[in-house]
Amino acid sequence: MINRLCIIGVGLIGGSLARALRGAQACAHITGCGRSEENLQRACELGVIDDYSTDIAEAVKGADMIVLSVPLRAMPAIFRIIDVHIDAQAIITDVGSAKSTVVQAARDNLHNNIARFVPGHPIAGTEQSGVEASFAELFNERRVILTPLPENKTEAVERVKKMWEAAGALVQLMPVDHHDEVLAATSHLPHILAFGLVDTLSKMSDRDEIFQYAAGGFRDFSRIASSDPLMWRDICIENSAAIIQIMDNFLQDLEALKQAIATADLDTVEAIFRRAKEARDRYTEQLAPSSK
Ligand code: NAP
Repeated sequence: MINRLCIIGVGLIGGSLARALRGAQACAHITGCGRSEENLQRACELGVIDDYSTDIAEAVKGADMIVLSVPLRAMPAIFRIIDVHIDAQAIITDVGSAKSTVVQAARDNLHNNIARFVPGHPIAGTEQSGVEASFAELFNERRVILTPLPENKTEAVERVKKMWEAAGALVQLMPVDHHDEVLAATSHLPHILAFGLVDTLSKMSDRDEIFQYAAGGFRDFSRIASSDPLMWRDICIENSAAIIQIMDNFLQDLEALKQAIATADLDTVEAIFRRAKEARDRYTEQLAPSSK
């Protein structure tokens, strides 16, 4: 299906996509690109990619599908280089966790090639980073959101959709702004809370004792605070408008909960917890057994 795939950023997401497409025999050749030759060599040894270049212009030569899988703030400079080196048939997509600023960066830098850029975001990941952490099943039955541009031809969107379907994913289309609002609430805010809570506890004078007695609940809640700080820095800054809106909502509700606890308002505290439990129970019921 894909003749020559170029993955820029062979880490968790880029590496997993390469592995999945290779496993599905959906592409003939995979070229990796990144800054560190050591990482790319390791990706070759692991059989994730066939060859590599640290030179983006060289890596995209002859590619019919180019996937940007780098931190969000690295994307504008990469678009600028791709724009003048891309092959006539190539489609470009990305996996960035926020979409409005990526689309703006593409519009600013892709010039005549903007119609060939189909923005995307796989709703799958782990708190690990790097090619060693990548695995072929990461996208199995997971959603991938595409936020096509008005300029995109149907064929370009279809090619990106088919690529993700070959990797095992369920593809949905969504407007860019809606994507950023939904993901701010369901992914970005939870990561901010996990980072924030663990940071607060780590600054307390008795932190060693606190962490020693932390049990399963703390481990579950804090898992995503092990995620890559640079990647999450970029996501927060690049989706700040939607994130600040949902943070304001949350802070208001947290303040109300604090007041209810401070005034021993049993009914309000119980009602909040009951509402939350019902919502989470509904959410877990609709999950596939493998992701519960
Ligand atoms: P990762 O494991 O750290 O991989 C990122 C890769 O990008 C690395 O191989 C890195 O290699 C390369 N890179 C970084 N800066 C670069 C640059 N300026 N030019 C070229 N290559 C560069 O990160 P990831 O988790 O795969 O995340 C990649 C993208 O996926 C991000 O945009 C993130 O928002 C999105 N995403 C992540 C998840 C998740 O759960 N992790 C889920 C969905 C989407 P070098 O350092 O050698 O350059």
